[in-house]
This record gives sequence, C-alpha cells and structure tokens, in this order.
Amino acid sequence: MVGGGQGAYIGNIHRISSRLDGAWQLVAGAFDVDAERGRAFALTQGIDPDRSYGDYKEMVAAELAREDRIDAVAICTPNFTHYPIARAFIEAGFDVICEKPITATLEDAVALEELTRESGRFVGVTYTYSGYPMVHEARKRVADGEIGRVRTVQVEYPLEWMATAIEHQGSAQASWRTDPKKNGRGGSIGDIGTHAYHLAGFVTGLKLKSLTADLSTFVEGRALDDNAHVMLRYEGGARGLLWSSQVALGNSNGVRLRVFGEKGSLSWFQEQPNELVLASLDGRTLIIKRGAEELSEDAKVRTRTPPGHPEGYLEAFANLYAGFAEAILARQSGRDPGPIGQNLPTAYDGLKGVAFVDAVVDSHEDANQPWLTPLAV
Ligand code: NAD
Repeated sequence: MVGGGQGAYIGNIHRISSRLDGAWQLVAGAFDVDAERGRAFALTQGIDPDRSYGDYKEMVAAELAREDRIDAVAICTPNFTHYPIARAFIEAGFDVICEKPITATLEDAVALEELTRESGRFVGVTYTYSGYPMVHEARKRVADGEIGRVRTVQVEYPLEWMATAIEHQGSAQASWRTDPKKNGRGGSIGDIGTHAYHLAGFVTGLKLKSLTADLSTFVEGRALDDNAHVMLRYEGGARGLLWSSQVALGNSNGVRLRVFGEKGSLSWFQEQPNELVLASLDGRTLIIKRGAEELSEDAKVRTRTPPGHPEGYLEAFANLYAGFAEAILARQSGRDPGPIGQNLPTAYDGLKGVAFVDAVVDSHEDANQPWLTPLAV
C-alpha cells in the first residue's frame, strides 16, 4: 500500500476489505508522505520493517529486487500523486489498485490509461458503489429489459461534511480536496460526482453523448465547487440529471440512483444497500432484498450472509478486492475470470471519470454553458 497512514481515511477501508475473503495480504508499504510517520505506522500494522519504505520510489526498487515481491500495490493517496505512483509501479511490472479519481488531470488520465493498455498490467479503480450486490442486480435487470428502454436517470451524491470551511480548521482530508493542484479542477464533482457518473453508467449501460453543467461554491473562500448540477444526454435519447454536493446538510453519504424506463423503474440508496426497489407499469412496487433466491448470479457471487444479516460498505469494497484478485489470477493462469472478476472498474473507467469532470468544468466556465462531449465516454 502507498498512503493510508495514521489518521488517513480510505487506507483503512482498503486494509479491512482486502482481507475479508483471504485473497490479499498486506506485506509492504510506504504509508505516509512523512517517512518516519509511515514507518511508525507500518509497525502498528505488523509490517516487516524491511518492507516498510520511506517513499514509493524506494518501495518499487526494493520490492523489484525481492523474489517474494508484492503482486500489486493499492494507491490510497491524494489525487495528484496517483499518476506518478501508478506509473512507477506499472513500469516496474506490478499490477495496481488505484483510488478514484484515477488522476488529478485529464492529461495524466490519458497517459495512465495508455500506459495500462500497452503494459498489459491490471489497473483496478475503486469505484466503491459498483461493488454492491444490489447494484449488480439493478444492472442485470436493466440489461435484461425488465424496466424497458431507459428514459431518464437521476443520480445524486450528497454529503454534508464540508458545509463549513473545515479546510481551514485542521481537516487533512478537506485541505487537499479544496486545493486545485492536489484535487484537480473539479471539487465535489471530482471527489464524488465521479462516483455518481460511474454508478449511472454502470447500471444503465448508457453511453454519454453530451452534458451541460452549473457549479457552485457555497462556502466562502473555497477554491473549488462544493455543489454541482449536471444535465446529461445519453446516446439513444435517454436523459440524466446528476447532483453532487459536499454541503447538503442531513446527508451523511446519500448516494442514490433512480432509473426510469418505459415499463418500470429501479431505485437504490446506499444507506439502505440491501434493498432494490422495482416499480412497474401496473402500479405495483416491489422491494427486492439482498440474498433472495430469485436474484441473479452477479448479485449472489457478491453476497456473503443470508437475508436479514445486513451487508454494506465494507463488503462492497471487499467485492471489488475479490474481483481484482480474480482478474489478476485469471490473467496469470491464462483463463477467463469467474463472475466476480468481471465488470470491474478499470483504467478506462478511471479515464472516463476524469474526462467527465473536465467537460463539466469546461461547460460551467463558459458563460453560455454549452453542451460538451467528454474526451472519453
Ligand atoms: P487522506 O488525506 O485521509 O489520506 C492520504 C494519505 O496519503 C495520508 O496518510 C498521507 O500521509 C498519504 N500520502 C500523501 N502523499 C503521499 C505520498 N507521496 N506517498 C505516500 N503516502 C502519501 O485522504 P483520503 O480521504 O483517504 O483519500 C485518499 C484517496 O482516496 C483520494 O484519492 C480520494 O479521492 C480517495 N477516496 C476514495 C473513496 C472511495 O469511496 N473509493 C473514499 C474516500 C477517499
């Protein structure tokens, strides 16, 4: 692991969820931007001091020299560091699991996606919400035509934790997220809008044609948007509306997706992730529960406990890790991956996310708020 040291947020989620199925072991790391703090943290994680590194460059060189070298690296650092770190590991022949957004700039995302393709390395991107079994169930039902042709997609990612200027009150997480050089051009749209955009495309299979956007910065003095409204036009005529907000009081982590088709609709809400709501033309509304016998294989392979024993965020994250392991093992042994190793977010999805953010900011910055097509859709 690179990043994810003492006091960091997402590194711990990676550590817990990667261990859930026994497919991964954490054996080495450069956990912190501060080498000493990183080494001290590595000790608390039971990492052999020989494999606790001062920085990622030292880690690449030392791991490459070992026979029992790592298989892959998980990159859990702020956005602007993803590209140089991922590049160094890929060029040394390692597979990569990278946090979203895959890079802070479009230029870096294009270069990283190209490098991934040319190298044949696996690069997985942790778009968390595509790990949930009921999100896979929704995807399968849309693909099977259960709600008919999709007409509109409403996707939102509201958060409340940045409703005040906490970047000036000692929040490490908010401080780099509000710095364009470290976060990238899009504030809320880069941080969480990318999740929403991926989720909508993942479930519906729709390809974006163009978008127009309106960004706002409600917290005084903040350098990036903390609220975004984006209208979406998909190929084939479907329409979408995406809202991301870091200032939406009352919303701890309110990711919500609603897909409306000609014959019905599907709704999923991350704070009740074990349920998928299906409404149909005949006026009936059905709550489909995780673990039910009738569910698709895609949902079943991502389910660990029987209905009634709730699963959530950590298990969804673990499904991505189980999938990444399966994809890598399948490649190593020259076979096709099993179902959990399919439909995973990879470098191209990462590029699509960054291209989306770039088009959103371009559309907003032009006073005419034109309809724009992202570089990758
Ligand atoms: P954070 O500020 O809490 O932690 C960042 C960690 O990286 C710290 O330990 C820091 O010391 C370390 N670090 C920084 N530069 C480093 C370097 N060059 N080498 C080694 N370590 C370095 O950040 P966070 O909130 O955990 O976010 C990290 C990444 O995870 C971001 O890209 C963010 O967008 C992403 N994230 C994803 C999700 C998700 O749902 N998938 C959720 C939260 C954050």
